Amino acid sequence: TSYGFRQVGESEKQTLVNDVFHRVAKRYDIMNDVMSLGLHRAWKDAMIAALNPAKREDYRVLDVAGGTGDIAMRIVEASGRRAHATVLDINGSMLSVGAERARKAGLADHLDFVEANAEELPFEPNSFDAYTIAFGIRNVPHIDVALKEAHRVLKRGGRLMVLEFSAVDQPFLEKIYDTWSFNAIPRFGKMVTGDAEPYQYLVESIRKFPNQRDFATMIEKVGFSRVGFTNYTGGIAALHSAWKI
Ligand code: SAM
Repeated sequence: TSYGFRQVGESEKQTLVNDVFHRVAKRYDIMNDVMSLGLHRAWKDAMIAALNPAKREDYRVLDVAGGTGDIAMRIVEASGRRAHATVLDINGSMLSVGAERARKAGLADHLDFVEANAEELPFEPNSFDAYTIAFGIRNVPHIDVALKEAHRVLKRGGRLMVLEFSAVDQPFLEKIYDTWSFNAIPRFGKMVTGDAEPYQYLVESIRKFPNQRDFATMIEKVGFSRVGFTNYTGGIAALHSAWKI
């Protein structure tokens, strides 16, 4: 089937992704609810519960592709407002929305915002207790490079958690999901931002992302141990978890 997408190269891919998130930054949180029918909230809650952040002031989390700070704020709350989270994103527009949200929620002291690329993290080795990335890794042009960087900046005993759209494992659900994502999402995207192409690109990027097992293998290859995954909503999303030991 052809959906009329252009083939994009890797540097062009990052430019396209940047363009999408600059355009949607202010409406990103609403778009998320609309496109996932609110399900992203339940998946994120499950991710935070699985991480179970320590209720300690010296617990440090790096949330990569953290955008508007959703995951980081949930982690800080789950730690009883004790942990510290660094939100890293390549896109300053997304981070500005996040910083404002954090200020309004009274969480500014527990968060910082860093504009950088997941493929080149501006941190010393062995700096963080946990590395989280939600719906971000499929946008990164070189996934293996991002995973290597995750391994480098984690402390020994540190935890990697990746939440991402994945491969649906139920035929009935797959049909509904295909209709929803290929027709409804670009249409909604166009209604909200006047432009369907960025959303078509995002939907396409979900299809290209490796399935649960292949992605687990990629995580193992960069040196992580005890790699496992949990499917959410029939595999529409999956949480991969691993340790640096
Ligand atoms: N984690 C947030 C959430 O779950 O709501 C935001 C996810 S949003 C779908 C994807 C984010 O990845 C965007 O904010 C985008 O700017 C960021 N991003 C894309 N490529 C990146 C890269 N190479 N390094 C860091 N962030 C990147």
